[in-house]
Amino acid sequence: MTTPHSRLSYLDPARPEPWASFIEQIDRVAPHLGKLSRWIETLKHPKRILIVDVPIVRDDGTVAHYEGYRVQHSLSRGPGKGGVRFHPAVTLNEVMALAGWMTIKNAALGLPYGGAKGGIRIDPRQFSRAELERITRRYTSEIGIVIGPDKDIPAPDIGTDQQTMAWMMDTYSVNVGHTASGVVTGKPIALGGSLGRQEGTGRGVFIAAREAGARVGVPISGARIVIQGFGNVGGVAARIFCEHGAQVVALQDAEGAIANPAGIDIPAALAHAATHGSLSGFTGATAVSEDDFWQVDSDYFVPAALEGQLTPDRAQRLRTRIVVEGANGPTTPAADDILGERNILVIPDVLANAGGVTVSYFEWVQDFSSFFWSEEEINARLESIMIKAFEAIWQTARERQVSIRTAAFIIACQRVLAAREQRGLYP
Ligand code: NAD
Repeated sequence: MTTPHSRLSYLDPARPEPWASFIEQIDRVAPHLGKLSRWIETLKHPKRILIVDVPIVRDDGTVAHYEGYRVQHSLSRGPGKGGVRFHPAVTLNEVMALAGWMTIKNAALGLPYGGAKGGIRIDPRQFSRAELERITRRYTSEIGIVIGPDKDIPAPDIGTDQQTMAWMMDTYSVNVGHTASGVVTGKPIALGGSLGRQEGTGRGVFIAAREAGARVGVPISGARIVIQGFGNVGGVAARIFCEHGAQVVALQDAEGAIANPAGIDIPAALAHAATHGSLSGFTGATAVSEDDFWQVDSDYFVPAALEGQLTPDRAQRLRTRIVVEGANGPTTPAADDILGERNILVIPDVLANAGGVTVSYFEWVQDFSSFFWSEEEINARLESIMIKAFEAIWQTARERQVSIRTAAFIIACQRVLAAREQRGLYP
């Protein structure tokens, strides 16, 4: 029987392992780095990898062990920063790539962080809340030797949320003997979380799409949007697109895909997903096959699920004008080439989904100063950082005649490798 996750298999040669995709992206940028390319190997070697055993007593009294990771890809520009993923397909290879993309993203946006990522290979839906709490606390305790407000600051990712961050913050704080709210971001507001954090990534996806559309003549108002993934990123982005006059004409989540050429009622779909855990059974649209989903006509296509989803075959069939990568690493390098040949503009993950880590940065700054900003202030600062980064990357792409992804990597790698060079090697 096909399980919802069997589609994620990395055995498909069209879908290279994520770390291989990351390495290929680094290789592609190397010729653009001049003398700094001497340091390029730095980016191909994660600074620190921690693999931890996470044992818990399950509700039925049995003892179970799970494998967890925390990878610090680079700490050259500041503490590690990146999410924690709970998903059955988590591997060390995937976490390494996700950590690498965080290094690039933080540098591309000019945030004072390195790059890190963590994960546990579990399907969170198979556990009770009490079991998830025990898993989270034991994992936090195990990675406690490498995280901290000035060392490495986790945040939510697929399968984790505010509650996970609250347990992580509490566990770390109990272990160090004082309340350390700055050890994670994406926390509940009551524990030092930031207004606007939960929707920061989706809002950033919208800003990136709007900026791209304004430059190539595809206005958001009246645009048709297709979104893969209807969670924190895809769901929020869908809502904000609709608030600005766009129509979401197809959606896909782990259970299947739906389409409605007249536009899906997003508040109703969000309410359905919140109640039922997925879009399955939603009556405001027609179920479509996975194949058909990739061929729905749109102006913007937003992958907001997992990496490796846009394969060469799907890139050939995609009928859209602009791809805005809400997910991390959704497009394989070979698919990226095909989209380029087909003149489909790609706004890469390291720019398009950077709204989340940008508001995480605001949260961390607020925690340090114990002074909290209004939501208007957060959103205005997010707009300003995203627009500035977008413009710099767009200009670099024009000047160097490269893709937006390569331009983002050029800017980011220059910053990371300049820091590496200026710090020098010890000893
Ligand atoms: P989430 O768990 O809230 O939602 C994931 C969505 O993807 C769900 O709707 C799920 O059903 C769907 N999905 C899972 N497998 C799928 C499949 N095989 N086909 C289609 N849909 C599938 O996760 P999220 O936080 O929204 O993260 C989504 C992506 O965005 C990830 O790549 C993540 O790394 C990236 N991202 C998240 C944040 C953040 O702040 N949450 C920030 C930057 C990037």
